[in-house]
Amino acid sequence: MSNAVSTLPSLDTIASNIQIELSHTRRQSTNTLLNQVKKDAKIQGLLRNNAFCRKIISLLSLMKSYSNEDDQSKALDIILASPIYERLEKEGKSNSSDYTDRLVKQLLKWYKEEFFKWVDKPECPNCGNTEQDKIQRVWGGRPHLKEHFEGQAAIVEQYQCQKCKNIIEFPRYNKASKLLETRRGRCGEWNNCFILLMKSLGLKVRYVWNMEDHVWCEYFSDNLQRWVHIDSCENAFDNPLLYSKGWGKRMSYIFAISDHYIVDVTGKYVEHGSKNVIPRDKIDEDDLKMVLAALNLSLLSEIDDDKTLLEVSSNMILDHNTMKNNSILPVKIQDCIPPRQSGSAEWKNERGENGKD
Ligand SMILES: [Zn+2]
Repeated sequence: MSNAVSTLPSLDTIASNIQIELSHTRRQSTNTLLNQVKKDAKIQGLLRNNAFCRKIISLLSLMKSYSNEDDQSKALDIILASPIYERLEKEGKSNSSDYTDRLVKQLLKWYKEEFFKWVDKPECPNCGNTEQDKIQRVWGGRPHLKEHFEGQAAIVEQYQCQKCKNIIEFPRYNKASKLLETRRGRCGEWNNCFILLMKSLGLKVRYVWNMEDHVWCEYFSDNLQRWVHIDSCENAFDNPLLYSKGWGKRMSYIFAISDHYIVDVTGKYVEHGSKNVIPRDKIDEDDLKMVLAALNLSLLSEIDDDKTLLEVSSNMILDHNTMKNNSILPVKIQDCIPPRQSGSAEWKNERGENGKD
């Protein structure tokens, strides 16, 4: 007892030790589960052979492309040269808890009204023709210029100007830093470039993918203590029913992909029992849950530092609770299409095509 006080560590050391111990405990259970997943023939079969699972796997690395520091630095320079902070200052209340929310709103407004441009058909650079009906889509070309490859364009759309017969190319760039220069495109380009701008501000942002050909993002608001829907094409902040209710868009699967995990957020964007739910028939619902859990376990096991692991696990709990209150009416496979008729019961079971839950 005599020298106890002088040997006690400081409070922050105690706290960080607790965090490390906590995460080690969690990691142990993560690793045990991950080993089970690796031996599970059904999960491994789905991951290898189910086309929808392959698509999900391809989404996992989406956020990696925004972590390049040079790209973030370029993006930040653009924001600092913009009138965003000046406008924010004019609003006053610089110490208020919603400061970051208001910063994001200013960024959205500026981005939509002054920075990025929507392109259906590109205008003709030769004669300046901007009339959409005088520009005709001719064929979809492959990337062929150095610039196309550097900007990671998957396709190069080609058009012909009906006024001067000039061939106009519209490369669909995927590299976000390239889009800081071109500043134009459709929802993919809009979202891509906007996420990089958000990342450059040090904000927590994640990519949202919808099966029915739309993408947007979410940002974690410390003020609201939740992930907030953000659509840069629409200058939309926290309006998750925009598509389902506003557009009457019918949707099936919507996933949010952050740096370290993927979560099914469909219920947040489509109301319970809405007529705008497209029957989900790509994979059995229980199998989907299992596959997402397996992929997340694998992603969690790749996290090295304890602070990130704790933050990610807290976020996962938050997501779980959010989605629990937002579950869409689950559409069972047998409600949409009859179960597969051909093949033996065992074979169908193996393929997850038995039409059962
Ligand atoms: Zn022309």
